[in-house]
Amino acid sequence: MTATMQSVPALIDGREIWSTDAGMMSRSDPSTGRPLADVVVAGQTEVDLAVAVGRTTFDRGAWSNVAPAERGAALLRLADLVERDAPLLAAIDSAEAGKPIRECLEGDVGAALEALRWFAGAADKLYGATSVTVSSEVGMTFREPMGVVAAIMPWNYPMAQAAWKIGPALAAGNSLILKPSEWTPGSALHIAALAIEAGIPAGAISVLPGTGAVTGSALARHDGISAISFTGSVGTGREILKAAAGSNFKRVSLEMGGKSPQVLMQDALTFGDRLIDHMIDSAFMTMGENCTAGSRVLVHESIADEVTSRFVDRARSLVVGDASDQSTDIGPLITEGAARRVRGLVERAKAEGAELLLGDEDVSQRGPNFVAPTVLRLERQDHEIQRTEVFGPVVTISTFSSENEAVALANDTDFGLAASLWTRDINRAMRMARAIEAGVISINSYSEGGMSAPFGGYKQSGFGGKERGMDAFEQWTQTKTVWLQLHGDGSA
Ligand code: NAD
Repeated sequence: MTATMQSVPALIDGREIWSTDAGMMSRSDPSTGRPLADVVVAGQTEVDLAVAVGRTTFDRGAWSNVAPAERGAALLRLADLVERDAPLLAAIDSAEAGKPIRECLEGDVGAALEALRWFAGAADKLYGATSVTVSSEVGMTFREPMGVVAAIMPWNYPMAQAAWKIGPALAAGNSLILKPSEWTPGSALHIAALAIEAGIPAGAISVLPGTGAVTGSALARHDGISAISFTGSVGTGREILKAAAGSNFKRVSLEMGGKSPQVLMQDALTFGDRLIDHMIDSAFMTMGENCTAGSRVLVHESIADEVTSRFVDRARSLVVGDASDQSTDIGPLITEGAARRVRGLVERAKAEGAELLLGDEDVSQRGPNFVAPTVLRLERQDHEIQRTEVFGPVVTISTFSSENEAVALANDTDFGLAASLWTRDINRAMRMARAIEAGVISINSYSEGGMSAPFGGYKQSGFGGKERGMDAFEQWTQTKTVWLQLHGDGSA
C-alpha cells in the first residue's frame, strides 16, 4: 500500500475484500481536491462475516486464551512494525485527513507507539480480586474479555485512534472489528495487516471501512457484538446508544466532542512564551479539528490586552498550506462542507457583534477546504460559536474578573472534555481544577496527559468509559465473580 493508494479494501480474517453489495465511495485529497482512493463500503454481509470470524476465533481461544504475556509480546512486535512503517502511515494519514505531515510524523506516530507499548505491558496485569469472607468461603473475581467488540472511529487522529482501541481491546483478549472513518481508512487497514504480521491471529482483527449510515449502524445494531467503543460526535454517539438499547444491550463507551476552555489567571504571563506556545497548540493543532481543542480562551481582564496581542501575533505567523508540505502548520479542513460550516459560524458571530481580531486573510486560492486561523473577541456567552464545537482553526477570547467568574464561564457549556489552567498559585490551581467540570484538566500546560492517565469526558463529552490507563479496560473486559463454599471441618 502507498500513500497514493487507488483503492481501500475491507480486511476480514486476513483476506482483502475489494467489492461489496454496499458499493464503493470515492475519497479526494483535502488539500488539492484530487482523487485519492476508492473505499469499499462494508455492508451487512461483511459485518456478519467479521462478527462470525471474530466469534470463532474467540471461542477457539486462538487469541483469547493465549497467555497474557504472549499477547503483550505480540503487541510489542506490532509496535515495532508500526515504527518501521511510520513514514508510510504518517503519509497516509496526512493525505487522507489533510493533517500537516509534520504533525503526523512528530505527534501521531509517537502517540500510536506509546499506546501499543503501554497496553502490551498491561496485558498481564489485569488482576482480579478476592472478596472479604469468612474462612469457609472464597470469593474471587476474574477480568475476562467481552468477546467480539467493535471500535468506531473518527478521522482526526486515525493511526493514534486505532492504536488506542487496538491496544487495550487486544491486550484483554477480545476479537476486534475496527470501523475507521469513511474519510481515513488507510492507516487502520495497514496497522491491522501489521498486527497479523506480528502474529496476532487474523480472525482477531478485522477492518470494515464504510459510511456511518451503512457500516457503523450495522455494527451498532449487531447482536453478536458485545461492546462498542466509539469516538466521534455527540449526535452519532446518541444514535449508537439507541441502537445498542434496541438490540442486545451491548456495552457502549462514547468519547465525544468538546468546547474546552483555556483559563489564564492574573499571573499567567509569568510563563512567557511557554504560555503562548501552548495556547497556539491548544487552539490550532490539527486545524482545531481536535476534540480537546482549547477553543475558548478565558483570560483575567488585567492581562487580557497583552495576552491577546501576543497570541494574535503568533497565530498570524502560522503557515497555511498543503498538508504534505513540511512547513505547513494549518492544512485544509476535512471537507469543503466542513470549511463552509466553520466560515458560516464565524460570519454569524461577527454579525452578532463578536470582534474579528484575526482571520480575514483570503486563503481561498489554496482550495475550498482552507480556513485561515481565526481569533474573535466576544463577551457574551450566548453566541452560537461559543456554544457549538467549531472543529476548525477558530478561537474566541473572553475576559473575567475573579476566580469564581472564571470557573462559572469554564463550566458554561454542555461539554466537559478538557480544560487548561494557568497560574503559579497552587491553592488556586487545585481549587479550580476541582471545580471545573471536565474529564482532563492540565495545569500550566496544554496536555491530554500521558498514556497511564485516564482520558475521557464529563457531561456530553463522554459516556460509559475512559480511554488510556488501566481504566481503559473497563470498556473491554467484564468482571466475573466465582464463589466457592468450602465444606468439612478438617477433622478427617
Ligand atoms: P462522526 O460522529 O461523524 O463519525 C465518527 C464515526 O462514527 C465514523 O466512523 C462514522 O462513520 C461513524 N458513524 C456515523 N454515523 C453512525 C451511525 N449512525 N452509527 C454508527 N456509526 C456511525 O465524527 P467525526 O466527524 O468523524 O469526528 C469528529 C468528532 O469526533 C468531533 O465531535 C470530535 O470532538 C470527536 N472526537 C472526540 C474524541 C474524544 O476522544 N473525545 C477524539 C477525536 C474526535
